[in-house]
Amino acid sequence: MSHIYETIILGGGPAGLSAALYAGRGKLDTLLIEKATYGGQVATTYEVDNYPGTDLGITGPELSDKMRKQAEHFNTKFIKEDIISVDFSDKIKKIVTNKGEHLAKTVIIATGAQPKMVGFKGEIELRGRGVSYCATCDADFYTDLPIAVIGGGDSALQEALYLTKFASKVTIIHRRQGFRAAQYLVDKTKANPKIEFLLDTVVEEAMEENGLLTGLKVKNVITEEVSDFVTDGVFVFVGYEPISEIFKGMVNMNAFGEIITDVYMKTDVPGVFAAGDIRETTIRQVITAAADGAVAAISCEKYLEEME
Ligand code: NAP
Repeated sequence: MSHIYETIILGGGPAGLSAALYAGRGKLDTLLIEKATYGGQVATTYEVDNYPGTDLGITGPELSDKMRKQAEHFNTKFIKEDIISVDFSDKIKKIVTNKGEHLAKTVIIATGAQPKMVGFKGEIELRGRGVSYCATCDADFYTDLPIAVIGGGDSALQEALYLTKFASKVTIIHRRQGFRAAQYLVDKTKANPKIEFLLDTVVEEAMEENGLLTGLKVKNVITEEVSDFVTDGVFVFVGYEPISEIFKGMVNMNAFGEIITDVYMKTDVPGVFAAGDIRETTIRQVITAAADGAVAAISCEKYLEEME
């Protein structure tokens, strides 16, 4: 008979890793399944300066590594597999991956979110050929070249600042005048001599030559004037969408595909919890994801106690 874990955590970002730490310390027999990189989105972030207790200047990959090692110390088992489907209809939940099947009494969904696309013509075709969604991964390709960043939130401004370490110039293209980003980031980007702004502007189309990006057709939304913006690289940071497709029909979600939980991270399915960016919430930070993970693991413990 297959082994039945007390808890299976789906996803190894800050929510999943924190859940693993708490579940492990609580001596739950725990498995964490991650498809790609531990740390999730934070692993693609250059600097994390708003997670308490860490050294100033700590990078996203360093913080992810620390979180993972700490969780491993308390005996959570980690595996790298791709989750294909889930079945939460029984008391014992089933997770099917590309390598097999895993069973558990409780599940914590912490699969997080992925970058949203803008939807301009050529965006998909030129991904990895001038269009990027990860500054830490691709910044190096644009050393001493002028590049563009799309977006006006924390991600766009923070990553634009990071990109100035490589590019000769970074132009932030944003669809309106006001920024969603924190004021300190707005001030910092405005003070950076390598950063320029193209506001009230949307990208309509990518221009290419031999399959590589050469520029963007941009439109001023006030004047409706369309012009060519020459660039070898554009980094898109226009928000994130939940990675929740495989859970559709299994747990209650809102119209955006975010899983609805209560303050204990309980979903509408007994024994199934959700934590971090996958959840319906308004604040998405590393610290809030980690807090969610802790709450979810403690809720699993309580559920298991009541089950006995
Ligand atoms: P966000 O806050 O949702 O901002 C998305 C930005 O992209 C907005 O400026 C939005 O414009 C723009 N946008 C959205 N769709 C667009 C489209 N189709 N075309 C053009 N522009 C579009 O996303 P985020 O910056 O990725 O941040 C996500 C969450 O992570 C937030 O809660 C943020 O606070 C958090 N975060 C925090 C930090 C930090 O604390 N340092 C760093 C990164 C992220 P409008 O403003 O006009 O809607």
